Amino acid sequence: MAGFRNLPSVDQVLVSEAGQALVRTHGHSAVVKAVRARLQHMREAIRAGEDGDALAVALPALLQQDLAAAARASLRPVLNLTGTVLHTNLGRALLADAACQAATAAMANPLALEFDLDSGGRGERDDHLRGLLCELTGAEDATVVNNNAAAVLLVLNTFGLGRETIVSRGELIEIGGAFRLPEIMARAGVTLVEVGTTNRTHARDYTAALGPDTGLILKVHTSNYRIEGFTAEVPAPELARIAHKGGVPLLNDLGSGSLLDLSRYGLRREPTVAEAVAEGAGLVTFSGDKLLGGPQAGFIVGRRELVEAINRNPLKRALRLDKIRLAALEATLHLYRDPDRLTQRLPTLRHLARSQADIAAQAERLAPQVGALLAAHGFSVSVCECRSQAGSGALPVDTIASAGLRLSGGGGDAPDRLSAQLRTLPTPVIGHIRDGALILDLRCLDDDATLLDALRALTP
Ligand SMILES: *Cc1c(COP(=O)(O)O)cnc(C)c1O
Repeated sequence: MAGFRNLPSVDQVLVSEAGQALVRTHGHSAVVKAVRARLQHMREAIRAGEDGDALAVALPALLQQDLAAAARASLRPVLNLTGTVLHTNLGRALLADAACQAATAAMANPLALEFDLDSGGRGERDDHLRGLLCELTGAEDATVVNNNAAAVLLVLNTFGLGRETIVSRGELIEIGGAFRLPEIMARAGVTLVEVGTTNRTHARDYTAALGPDTGLILKVHTSNYRIEGFTAEVPAPELARIAHKGGVPLLNDLGSGSLLDLSRYGLRREPTVAEAVAEGAGLVTFSGDKLLGGPQAGFIVGRRELVEAINRNPLKRALRLDKIRLAALEATLHLYRDPDRLTQRLPTLRHLARSQADIAAQAERLAPQVGALLAAHGFSVSVCECRSQAGSGALPVDTIASAGLRLSGGGGDAPDRLSAQLRTLPTPVIGHIRDGALILDLRCLDDDATLLDALRALTP
């Protein structure tokens, strides 16, 4: 019990030089809380037999650590060296400079969000994007909501509430984060009518299911998987004709969707939004933060009377976008008016289009420098080939030739432990384990210094 006397009081800590320095950085209340918590902890340790003197000596350094840890943002930038460009768990698309600037301005200033600068009267939130979206997709009208899941929910609820929605069994998807189409349909108040089989669905399956209770036909891009072999699906133009004859809208949910033909950047050709619109779907939905390279958002484009019906749905208000993302989206869409410079301006597209030669040269440059930083940890560093992927269900079966650093040594679970240590850095470095080594795919590393600076914070 004598050990307690060696511990200072809260007041003694606060008036000490170290205590005063902490107060200047973190403020009085945070320091008082931290000191109380630490002293409490130490009294328990002394009761359990630890040496009070040693604990008292360690107190200032521990307080500094506690307060620094509590002050550190949980949501802070990391280095995505996973090889997955649109990593859902790492926040998907990175915004263009123009989009970041527009978002910052929208955060700090009043803006004409729902205010018509020409008449001085009330304006509409969607007006800022409608023109651009119609220009880029060829659609008559457009609206935008929180994300593509919300876009699909809103369309289903607008046209299918208390009615039936026809979907092919081959398209009843689950995408990450527990977005399962049958469950979303139930919550939208829609009765699901499944047609066809897992691998083959024909036009006659849809026509047989169409009836007086049909609210809409849904076509879904099977984003994260592909059915191969003996398969058949009804092409969108034919499905549009069937829907038209039945007097119901066709929704084509593209998932990622792309405003441009990606084959010009060496990627697989995916149907563009403009093509899906031209194929006759009354409505097309797609994401803002997948291949498009903007902030999280869900777009609904299509025929005017259908979009107007959606805008009258009270759920639209609950799913609407905030001014910050609207500003970022407008700036992002503007960039698409100049496709030739898009890879310079849109980080997502720049990363996807980066050549393996460029990435390999960066790996060659970095290997000796990273090797020098990791030698003390018992790891050696070599250049390796990797396969990157787009991620977020975009271009699901394709991988893109890339290059990276292979961090090996130690044996056993040493790579896992190194991986865990890199995740705790002030700028966490996220890679993946392959064949007993930690791999850092450099596709998304914009400049060498970012990685070197992050790794310098490693303590031996
Ligand atoms: C990703 C995806 C969604 C959901 O989009 P979010 O923007 O993530 O909400 C819906 N449908 C398909 C086909 C998708 O690929």
